[in-house]
Amino acid sequence: VIKIGGQSIMDRGAKALLPILEALIEAKDKHKILLMTGGGTRARHVYNIGVDLGMPTGVLSKLGDKVSWQNAEMLSVLLAKHGGVKIGHGDNLEQLTMFCRLGYMPITYGIPPYGFFEHPAEQGSIPPHRTDCGAFLLAENIGARSLIFLKDEKGLYDQDPKKISGPERDKLKYFSRISARELIELDLDDLIIERPILTLLQRAKCLKELQIINALRHPEHISAALEGEHVGTIIYKE
Ligand code: ADP
Ligand code: MG
Repeated sequence: VIKIGGQSIMDRGAKALLPILEALIEAKDKHKILLMTGGGTRARHVYNIGVDLGMPTGVLSKLGDKVSWQNAEMLSVLLAKHGGVKIGHGDNLEQLTMFCRLGYMPITYGIPPYGFFEHPAEQGSIPPHRTDCGAFLLAENIGARSLIFLKDEKGLYDQDPKKISGPERDKLKYFSRISARELIELDLDDLIIERPILTLLQRAKCLKELQIINALRHPEHISAALEGEHVGTIIYKE
């Protein structure tokens, strides 16, 4: 299962996305890939308006889900001639084997179908389970061999690198491999993936780890990660 970032990749448009699609097309004959999409800036926009209007978490979840749907729609158009096919979260998911065996590359939206049933967030009202969590849950439940997040940073640091500039950036600590348990204990202010994943990974029965890679700068890391190489941050179950 590969999740394409919304804000980190798709919002950057053709220049960011097309080299990544090339890499996926190359990888697809060797690996059975389920592509999942993030939301990004449009989802954050609607959350902001909804929060300002006092909408509850479940309504916010319903507002945001259309954005990863839009991104899945665009990906399926771009990948159509290479077998990209957009699928929903219903019966299609039970036909994943069929799509993969026939050489298609199924694409679905990352947002999990909680909607009105979304759990309350620890802080604020933005839905805690968004597209990173959706990709995790689906990968876990279909027995995926690996789960790879395509983002615009090479993985996890002790702070959000985008909030640090100048010489301070060199002092950032990079985590090449860290357990979900350690990360929960560290309780960093900001993470590169949605926080509930850490707890989910600790409870996982199938997935033992996930990898976050900088596909923006290194599209070639996609096939490396699919081959099991360590090219980004690996977070593992402990
Ligand atoms: P996506 O669009 O893939 O969901 P997000 O924008 O939600 O991606 O999350 C990726 C971003 O998280 C990175 O671009 C980075 O700026 C930010 N980030 C926040 N905290 C960290 C951290 N501790 N280490 C690395 N990146 C972080
Ligand atoms: Mg995100």
